[in-house]
Amino acid sequence: MKLDLKIQPLNTWIKPAQENQPLLIAGPCSAETEEQLVATAHLLAKTGRLSALRAGIWKPRTRPGEFEGIGSIGLQWLKRAKEETGLPTAVEVATAKHVEEALAAGVDILWVGARSTANPFTVQEIADALRGVDVPVMVKNPVNPDLSLWIGALERINNAGITKLAGIHRGFSSHEKSAFRNEPMWDLAINLKTHAPELPIINDPSHITGSRDLIPYVAQKALDMDMQGLMIESHIDPSVAWTDAKQQVTPSALDELVGNLTLRKPEIKSAEVKDALADLRNQIDKIDDLVIQKLAERMQIVEKIGNYKKDNGITILQVNRWDEILQKRTRYGKALKLDENFTEKLLELIHSESIRKQTEIMNSDSGIKENLTHA
Ligand code: PEP
Ligand code: MN
Repeated sequence: MKLDLKIQPLNTWIKPAQENQPLLIAGPCSAETEEQLVATAHLLAKTGRLSALRAGIWKPRTRPGEFEGIGSIGLQWLKRAKEETGLPTAVEVATAKHVEEALAAGVDILWVGARSTANPFTVQEIADALRGVDVPVMVKNPVNPDLSLWIGALERINNAGITKLAGIHRGFSSHEKSAFRNEPMWDLAINLKTHAPELPIINDPSHITGSRDLIPYVAQKALDMDMQGLMIESHIDPSVAWTDAKQQVTPSALDELVGNLTLRKPEIKSAEVKDALADLRNQIDKIDDLVIQKLAERMQIVEKIGNYKKDNGITILQVNRWDEILQKRTRYGKALKLDENFTEKLLELIHSESIRKQTEIMNSDSGIKENLTHA
């Protein structure tokens, strides 16, 4: 399904600061004091790598009683930072009042935060306040891994007439234990790209990782996934930052980090490389077709088993059998140099489809259809 978004190319409103460099938006998680913001902005501007300066003025905090942003006064500090460094500015807006105040203070780019994207009422309020205004808006993915919410927010903003639009991939909350603060779930961002290829997506490795040591890894991966830019939190002294201290980097660390990133190009220049890649892709296409064929054959056998079980009053799930399949195949996959985790996930997906199919057969008289739970 292709989305019907009306989008202007990214370079109509923001460009990388230098050639052969990723587009970079950076700045403190929160504007804390005028000195902190302006001094950080100067050091960041000096790197020559920034396309825009970010700072949170109104902070959506999970618990009350924490620092909730410096508020409107911060807009004046941003104005000063912009005047002194020439950097365009970006802030998060979460209400119609934020939009009005930010625009009145000359903020160049607005973004919708992850918690707001998860709430269609909030997004609609922001969209209504944006009607008739020509300002770029970036929409962060919602906190929860729900692609429709992200798409819905982009559509609401776009329907209000905002065509300078981008998504920000900042990861998703998950109950699974992980090294990351927010799981990247890259497939969700890639999925959005396939729905709306013209929509630029900027990666936010700060909020994905929650820890500065992991930022280079995620930033590089984002570039390798052909994301259009990066938003990274940078503070003059992260150790004393009022918010997100662990994930902020100093301007000089940011300079080094971004300098070490490799920019690869999606288009292939050399004819030789092109041919070699085409040949390999051809082989992959053939194998993929075979995999699908074999899966279909497998599913036909599952159907037979389902009918057999139904006719003979046998339960669908036989835990021992499933355990045996999982163990054996994972070992086999390992011997063939497949990652165990990958084989296990693949088998789980196939298994849950088999169960769904058999449940359908058992209950064929009820007319109820279940969706695949694993996808
Ligand atoms: C932020 O960028 O400072 C922020 C609050 O991020 P998110 O909405 O992704 O949590
Ligand atoms: Mn932050």
